[in-house]
Amino acid sequence: MELQAVAKPGFTSLSPDRETVASFDREGRLYAYFKGGVTYRRSLASTVHVRWRDGSGARQRGRLSRDEAARVLAEAYAMAADCLPHASGPVRQRLEREILRWTPESLLAEADRFAQVYKPISILPPDQYLSIVLQATEGCTWNRCTFCSFYQDRPFRAKSHAEFAGHVAAVREFLGRGVLMRKGIFLADGNALALSQARLEPIFAAARAAFPGQPIYSFVDLYTGERRPVADWKRLVEHGLHRVYIGMETGLDELLRFLNKPGSQEELIAFVADLKQAGAAVGLIVMVGVGGAEYREAHGAATVAALAAMPLGPGDLVYLSPFIEHPGSVYSARRAQAALTPMDDAAVEAELQRLAGQVRRLGVRAARYDIREFIY
Ligand code: SF4
Repeated sequence: MELQAVAKPGFTSLSPDRETVASFDREGRLYAYFKGGVTYRRSLASTVHVRWRDGSGARQRGRLSRDEAARVLAEAYAMAADCLPHASGPVRQRLEREILRWTPESLLAEADRFAQVYKPISILPPDQYLSIVLQATEGCTWNRCTFCSFYQDRPFRAKSHAEFAGHVAAVREFLGRGVLMRKGIFLADGNALALSQARLEPIFAAARAAFPGQPIYSFVDLYTGERRPVADWKRLVEHGLHRVYIGMETGLDELLRFLNKPGSQEELIAFVADLKQAGAAVGLIVMVGVGGAEYREAHGAATVAALAAMPLGPGDLVYLSPFIEHPGSVYSARRAQAALTPMDDAAVEAELQRLAGQVRRLGVRAARYDIREFIY
């Protein structure tokens, strides 16, 4: 075996051959496993997600059953055990002390520990999959957008300060030294920044006391965010707020109303200007394909026009997210009623590329955001 191995401060990586790479957090828990063109990722709840490209080069993805996950975990740890005789120095130490103390069963049992610490994490922006999620609130204050099912399993609820402090301590304990591979704090759920300034500042302080120096990120919605004065946003930036992610969805007011999402293009432009003035970066999420073929052109044009009117810079991001229509959703029923034609995958992809080009010509970073690939 020609073992290629690295012992970084945040993770350990083992590659016994060109076809195989596994990486582990500093507790020794599998993080990712790549074998023969297939990538497996283990979530903190020990679900295993798989990604590969099919014969035509299209991205495929799925989630393994518990039995399949156990088999992949067993394979990755058997590979790690085979590496032991070939390892030396810190890699050998980590294999002995961190990695090989796990079994597929003990790793799968992490699901129970996760459930004691977290309510299900419904979604994160793609650059936040490796953050430390802290649930200051549960659910979404609005919860009535016709297309969204992220928080329908729970009413909005803010944790008391004591409850939040207990949650932060539990997250710290659960992550252990796994925290060394994580960057930033993500304040969840859907709308943690809806809390009053008086409640938020101590939350920020508690989060940063537990994870010093980590920048803070969160979702915010226009209808709650725009009520906070610039001076208060500035205070949150001083307390560590780095970037906020806004579900813009579209710059077209008519389509926003169709989606039952509050706000308008004009209000969003003003809100982003406030955030930028306060020193926060923004991540704007746009749904590509929402409203179907009939809205494609107007949705794209109004969205790019809105983005062009915002003072966006190098730290800001525009996420273009292929729209996923959930069967049985209110959106689905209204779309059928309005006789709107859903766009197929190829049409959505072409539109995504077209919009990405237009956003980049504005000098703003644009990236794809596939909610089906979310993992925490
Ligand atoms: S505001 Fe955001 S999280 Fe809440 S229902 Fe709408 S899309 Fe979903």
